[in-house]
Amino acid sequence: MVDLEFDRKGLDGYIRSEWKEVPPSLRWECIRCSWCCRQPWRVNLTWPEFDRIVTLAGKKELPRFGREVDPETGLDHPFFVIEGKCPMLEDEGAVCTMYPDWPYTCATYPFLLMPDGRLMYHTGCAGIGKGGVIDIDSMKEKIMRERKKAGMR
Ligand code: SF4
Ligand code: SF4
Repeated sequence: MVDLEFDRKGLDGYIRSEWKEVPPSLRWECIRCSWCCRQPWRVNLTWPEFDRIVTLAGKKELPRFGREVDPETGLDHPFFVIEGKCPMLEDEGAVCTMYPDWPYTCATYPFLLMPDGRLMYHTGCAGIGKGGVIDIDSMKEKIMRERKKAGMR
């Protein structure tokens, strides 16, 4: 997920302030608090994910979508903006109505695999420090699987 602060800080500033490299002893467990579904974030999507959301949402309210174009490559991708609460979050509890077909960025949060191979974690997630020590290699493999599922190369 990308915080709207991203645009103001740029990639380097954003990564430095919000994300840290995963140390070997990092413990994490999703405690299903839904904090990450209620942040003013821009959730990046692939086009297959966009189609899936529009189809699966049915009569539910859809989020506000946007499209970002990379000025260098001309490649584009869609995103949606969380305004208060993601519309795909159930009103009661902390259940994502898209699960298990939820977006790649949601499936892999609070982890991020950098182009240089470093695994980062988002310091805002309430599950950091809870549960067991994460296996860094397994988490990287999971991210690669989710990327593939999302239609990324
Ligand atoms: S903020 Fe972290 S612990 Fe809470 S729902 Fe999101 S991933 Fe799970
Ligand atoms: S799609 Fe699901 S997991 Fe992602 S922000 Fe919305 S409710 Fe949360």
